[in-house]
Amino acid sequence: MLIQNTIIDLVSELIKIDSSNSWLIPGSPGEKNVQLSIQEYFRKLGIETYFEEIDERHSNLVGCIKGGGGGKSLTLYAHCDTVGYALWKERALVPCIKGDHLIGLGAADDKGHAAAIMLSLTEIIESEIKLRGDINICLVSDEEGTSCGAMEYVKKHTPGAALVLESAPINRINISHQGFGWLDIKVKGNAAHGSASEAGIDAIIHMAEVIVRLQRNKRELFEKNPHPLNGETVFHTGTIAGGTDYATYPDYCQLGIEIGIQPGETIENRICEIEKIFKEVKQIYPGFEGSVDIRIARNPFEAKGHDVLYEILSVEIEKITHKKAVAVGENSWGDAQLFQDAGFPTLGVGANGGNLHAPDEWISISELEQLIQILISVIVKFCA
Ligand SMILES: [Zn+2]
Repeated sequence: MLIQNTIIDLVSELIKIDSSNSWLIPGSPGEKNVQLSIQEYFRKLGIETYFEEIDERHSNLVGCIKGGGGGKSLTLYAHCDTVGYALWKERALVPCIKGDHLIGLGAADDKGHAAAIMLSLTEIIESEIKLRGDINICLVSDEEGTSCGAMEYVKKHTPGAALVLESAPINRINISHQGFGWLDIKVKGNAAHGSASEAGIDAIIHMAEVIVRLQRNKRELFEKNPHPLNGETVFHTGTIAGGTDYATYPDYCQLGIEIGIQPGETIENRICEIEKIFKEVKQIYPGFEGSVDIRIARNPFEAKGHDVLYEILSVEIEKITHKKAVAVGENSWGDAQLFQDAGFPTLGVGANGGNLHAPDEWISISELEQLIQILISVIVKFCA
């Protein structure tokens, strides 16, 4: 049986290795060093893992514990990168414990979960359990950036059931999440002397009309029609720019927004709503000219083909935690969608954590211990 100290020591070792995402925070080291440390751990355990290169800065660490044949295979996913830590520089890489919380950068997102994979496989190997199915180790790069790791993994590997390990209260099984779009809304105006109102077209004023209507849609469409699992469709503004100086009509205004996509929808649903807004604004200001560019769009996630895995997972959760397992959704996007859309029946599960992407990020040590027990039992039953 695992003792909590083993868990704490391993997660702490991973936290100490700076693996902040190099795309998100230019100049950051990226996840390679933490992946090397995990590779060394597996080597000592007798499990061979290898790097699948994506580009010069990104690789996935992958491996397979081969089964005897004829069983179902299971992919265990965690990501190795973290966000930055400018707001808690002195403490982020110095793990500490407060009660049941192990605190440190990436504790919950997602190094505690990488450790859960390492420790559950340690138990499987050391107890010499014979399985028919394969266990695939999938420790990806760049989840906090462009998700190039997950995108590359699903291209190179045969679809089989996947457990995406990300922080959540232990009894929740994630079966759904929103997609999202990062959109640039552009409004064209006409530059003119500030006194030449007949020639000037004020792009910022026109954009204001667009923003007011985006917020109206949030209140009237999104707030009133939440998805039963994923909640209200996400919408917020992110950036705005426009104009040249006090004395001149602004000839352009550009707004960056983040907006959600629910199961059954695509980014086109959101674009249509924005184009309707353009028509409304054009009725007030005939000179209005707007356009919208998609910077990034990701589909929503809806688990499919996961029934056997769900059944085993929920039974084991209830047995080990004495809590009822519940199927849930998330309002935020994750790599689960990429796995599911590539044909992997995918579920999300994890240990509870808090302050993700913020100072004093923590993971529950007791839930992590339970998660490891759950993973061992699920592997043994699913890959039997
Ligand atoms: Zn994250």
